[in-house]
Amino acid sequence: FEAIVAEAGPEDRAFEAALRPRTLDELVGQERVREQLSLMLEAAVARGRTPDHVLLSGPPGLGKTTLAMIIANQLGAPLRITSGPAIQHAGDLAAILSGVNEGDVLFIDEIHRMSRPAEELLYMAMEDFRVDVIVGKGPGATAIPLEIPPFTVVGATTRAGLLPSPLRDRFGFTAQLDYYDTDELHRIVVRSAGLLDLEVTGDGGREIASRSRGTPRIANRLLRRVRDYAEVRAGGVVDHDVARDALSLYEVDQLGLDRLDRAVLTALCRSFNGGPVGISTLAVAVAEERETVEELAEPFLVRLGFLARTPRGRVATAAAWRHLGLAVPAGTEQ
Ligand code: ADP
Repeated sequence: FEAIVAEAGPEDRAFEAALRPRTLDELVGQERVREQLSLMLEAAVARGRTPDHVLLSGPPGLGKTTLAMIIANQLGAPLRITSGPAIQHAGDLAAILSGVNEGDVLFIDEIHRMSRPAEELLYMAMEDFRVDVIVGKGPGATAIPLEIPPFTVVGATTRAGLLPSPLRDRFGFTAQLDYYDTDELHRIVVRSAGLLDLEVTGDGGREIASRSRGTPRIANRLLRRVRDYAEVRAGGVVDHDVARDALSLYEVDQLGLDRLDRAVLTALCRSFNGGPVGISTLAVAVAEERETVEELAEPFLVRLGFLARTPRGRVATAAAWRHLGLAVPAGTEQ
């Protein structure tokens, strides 16, 4: 089913690209990361060296891809984009590395999902700027050395803990991106509205921000839906009532829960009596991929205190039952 928060079609991506900050100055929030990165990039440029490899970790939609693009932009370097799932064999990575030019920035999204042999090849490349590519199999296999000009890897991961430490250690700079507060999200909504030539009142912007679950990507997606609504039904201006009505039409509730979140909570409470239940079973119950539930719905539900992880599985808290308007069963965790 359509979940505003979870799914991205081609239109969403085009929209997202149009709203992406191009420089560190345009980026909202993340002050510390911004300052550290700006210092590191300036120093590298001044020395005429390629900067350290950069690892960005944090939940989806907080700005990792945006930062990778900004890094390449500030360096005036071309950005090559790939992702962990696309690198299943060491050979896939060797092919990418053989096309790298001096100073390039190589962005590897979901870097924790690369295969182990590819990971090993990558950390050799990051350290020594050369790798041995194994050609052939068995006794006839030969190692062909491949020299790679100095380049910068920007890795992104939703879970830094999943990276093996030899790979993690090759990154000279790591940044952990955190959820944004409502004021920051409000600034993002105002910035995006400006780019879209859309009038949004202070209250209207805050209503969108407060339902965006700490995530810039979601703030922009909600703004897009609200814009449609405002243009068709409300004379084009987004005020508080327009934002609220539009978002309830799209089933994003006051706390920012969307259909997927509520489906997960409802399944947990109604089908499994509040748990404990395993995440895979829960995902099947809502007809979603385990990763989708684990990466998009669960962290938010945990953050809200609606869902708790226990050794025996996921359980609904009393607050979850109450949010769904259901009676809290005796013995439920508060
Ligand atoms: P990630 O790679 O972490 O999933 P993205 O970099 O693709 O996230 O960001 C998603 C969207 O949110 C983009 O459209 C981007 O413009 C916006 N965005 C993310 N971080 C910021 C920020 N700090 N300031 C303004 N917009 C942001």
